[in-house]
Amino acid sequence: MENKCTKYEALFTFADEKTFNEHLKCCKDCQLEHEKMNAVSELIKEARPYFLKRKKTIAKAKIACAVFAMCLSAATLGVINLNTDISDTIKYGTTLTAEDLGFPVDAYGFVMVE
Ligand SMILES: [Zn+2]
Repeated sequence: MENKCTKYEALFTFADEKTFNEHLKCCKDCQLEHEKMNAVSELIKEARPYFLKRKKTIAKAKIACAVFAMCLSAATLGVINLNTDISDTIKYGTTLTAEDLGFPVDAYGFVMVE
């Protein structure tokens, strides 16, 4: 069985460029390994923009959801605060009449003005 050169990883990681390139010139195993590494590197470079774009799209969707939730809660609270019938129903279980609020009223429930 032929022994395969196992120096590629160590030279790639620890050796200087000159030593690494000189070994590549005279070692077939490491040349093959280097070609594989370059192919993988090219693939990663090619795929990178798609991943970045996807990341940005997800971030935009999160921002849109947050803005939507803020608008919805602001509108809901605004309606409840401005419409006293709704806030009275929530607080007291019924809408309050002028009489309930302590104003002098006539038989029809209208405020009496003297
Ligand atoms: Zn080698």
